[in-house]
Amino acid sequence: MSHFLDRLKFFDKVKETFSNKHGIVTVEDRQWEDAYRHRWQHDKVVRSTHGVNCTGGCSWKIFVKNGLVSFEMQQTDYPRTRDDLPDHEPRGCQRGASFSWYLYSPHRIKHPLIRGRLLDLYRTERMTGKDPVEAWGAIQADEKKRKAYTAIRGLGGFVRTSWDEVNEIMAAANVYTIKKWGPDRIFGFSPIPAMSMISYAAGSRYLSLIGAACGSFYDWYCDLPAASPQTWGEQTDVPEAADWYNSTYIIITGANLPMTRTPDAHFASEVRYKGAKIVAMAPDYAEFCKFSDLWMPIRQGTDAAAFLAMGHVALKEFHIDNQDPYFQEYSRKYTDLPMQVMLRKHGDAYVSDRFLRASDFDGALGETNNPDWKTIVFDRKSCAFVAPNGSIGFRWGEEGKWNLLEKAGDHETVAELTCIDDRDEVVSVGFPHFNHDEDNLLFRNVPVRKVKLSSGEDALVATVFDLQIAQYGIDRGLGGANVAKDYNDASVAYTPAWA
Ligand code: SF4
Repeated sequence: MSHFLDRLKFFDKVKETFSNKHGIVTVEDRQWEDAYRHRWQHDKVVRSTHGVNCTGGCSWKIFVKNGLVSFEMQQTDYPRTRDDLPDHEPRGCQRGASFSWYLYSPHRIKHPLIRGRLLDLYRTERMTGKDPVEAWGAIQADEKKRKAYTAIRGLGGFVRTSWDEVNEIMAAANVYTIKKWGPDRIFGFSPIPAMSMISYAAGSRYLSLIGAACGSFYDWYCDLPAASPQTWGEQTDVPEAADWYNSTYIIITGANLPMTRTPDAHFASEVRYKGAKIVAMAPDYAEFCKFSDLWMPIRQGTDAAAFLAMGHVALKEFHIDNQDPYFQEYSRKYTDLPMQVMLRKHGDAYVSDRFLRASDFDGALGETNNPDWKTIVFDRKSCAFVAPNGSIGFRWGEEGKWNLLEKAGDHETVAELTCIDDRDEVVSVGFPHFNHDEDNLLFRNVPVRKVKLSSGEDALVATVFDLQIAQYGIDRGLGGANVAKDYNDASVAYTPAWA
């Protein structure tokens, strides 16, 4: 017992010493700590993601208190999609992890804003008794008034207004423009459907109903990789990022993976463990360059030139020097490379014109349904021009031919990619290039076939393939100007040396 009392005294002594001399143990009120405890309290947990067009769609736990998001946490219950594929999770990014701060940020725009000078002008006109369209018209008709607000665009000066007032002004402006110039002078964008379908539908429907032009949201924020839909025929419907793991050679450009594809960036580092090579094209040593084996520090604005040079090499090595059967079959079946293009006289040479169509032939090649919409290939099997299945003319009015089988009707075909060994002529064709104007075409020799049209005219036609090879300046022994001697020939557009 005495031992126990001695110990109590000892602890009292320690407490007194530290409280008084060092201030470590105190009797101060510590309720303020509850603020931190409350910060993490919640009534329920729901699952959600961020509809911010990042296209990540990451799964998050959302912790809710009194109807407000108090915090969020990454979900970690993604299913394993394939045995030989790394896990998708953890998915998420720093933007997503702080999204609830954005929801309640004082910077978030919650009310309609309008340039102050325009609002003053509009209200002044309205107070004189004019109706909304007259009021808007009065501002537009007065150059000084118009300039008062258009000349200060970009300088801020927004003030809050009401939805009623701003809707009235927008409607008045639309009605005024339609009355004065016609509905097609109104050009609008709708939000991206992938992000908010209802908003997209509302905007595009409105613009369509009044007869206005409805632009693609990609025109608006300029981030569509145009090569993707041009090559694959679909707009941004591409494999998911996990597919990077199936690659062995990846060229990354126009995206900064850890920053702009944060939840997927791990696939790029993981595929390197399988031996994949990665090339990074960026003017700066951006974050994604750390994934790469080779960093191409291309000069800003020259990426198109770099890719043209890559196209020059790929076409020469896999379509001319070594004709890879896989590429050949793919080109015949899934691209427009074998389609025939009409050539139009241009001075002493030619330029490419429209596609040859079934309706250009006597009897429309037997195509009575939509012959104007059926493009043509030269079939190596029958040695004749045919209308292959799958062009747009087969979409309506018939069945079973809206496909990409190598067929014309029920007949198997082998669409000719090039007529170089069976050509009727070689002619000079002008192509637009970087310094393009009417008198500044790049002329290159192209093998062509002659074709008799139903009009009686003898036309020259070339395949898209032959035109494309010529456009890239690849030498096929056809003579003429502007063909590359080799990759080091910097005098010819689209060689690596030129790029
Ligand atoms: S990428 Fe980021 S912002 Fe987009 S859904 Fe995932 S966590 Fe949210």
